[in-house]
Amino acid sequence: MKISILASALALLSTASLAATVGSDKDAVAHYALDQYQEAQIHTLANLVSFPTVNTQDLKAPDNPAFIGFKNYLKMKADQFGFDYQDFGYTVLIGMGEQSEKVTIVTHGDVQPADASKWTKSPFELDKTTEPGKLIARGSEDDKGAIATALYAMKAIKDKGVELDNRIELMVYLAEESDWGPIKEFMKTYNQPKYAVTIDASYPVVVAEKGWSLIAPTFSGANPSEGLYAFTLKAVPLSAKFPKMPA
Ligand SMILES: [Zn+2]
Repeated sequence: MKISILASALALLSTASLAATVGSDKDAVAHYALDQYQEAQIHTLANLVSFPTVNTQDLKAPDNPAFIGFKNYLKMKADQFGFDYQDFGYTVLIGMGEQSEKVTIVTHGDVQPADASKWTKSPFELDKTTEPGKLIARGSEDDKGAIATALYAMKAIKDKGVELDNRIELMVYLAEESDWGPIKEFMKTYNQPKYAVTIDASYPVVVAEKGWSLIAPTFSGANPSEGLYAFTLKAVPLSAKFPKMPA
């Protein structure tokens, strides 16, 4: 992934700070995050990608040593930053704040398999030199970069004492690339957030949503002069609602 990872932090902070009390200076928090945590974030990313979190047929993620180590590392970071941590097997929640309503940041910690023979260095070692300006490893972009970004964005908000109207909860799912069964099961009992922000792969914030709708109206009337009519109907592509990825 590009070094522009901190640009993702900026985007995320802007989004997460929507929950903040009016008057807090989200730009100042974003600059603080950049100044304070860029190197630490890359270091954390290097640790996250060192766990080969590839799902296999014969070993479930919660029993797989790579995933167990990965989760232990996340718990260590949560403890270090003063966040709460909950492990539900396939899903981990790292939270900040006791507010009754929340904003959930959705990510995943599993990665696609990697054929080591096609990589200059190990796919599970963060390569900062082969292509200067890029951070290369399996999952550096999809989706461990997002996890590191979210952790430090939350930490920056906490450091600066931003008053939040909503709890922030970072969700890390462990079988996004292979099996959506466990997350569907988890969602049956998960206390749903006010908003969810999905940061996955190359785009800084892929979806910030309350929900989505497909509207298919039908109209009928007795005759042309008395029937209902639609006078304004607008639609825009979803991509038009989000800024372009910074270079
Ligand atoms: Zn992904």
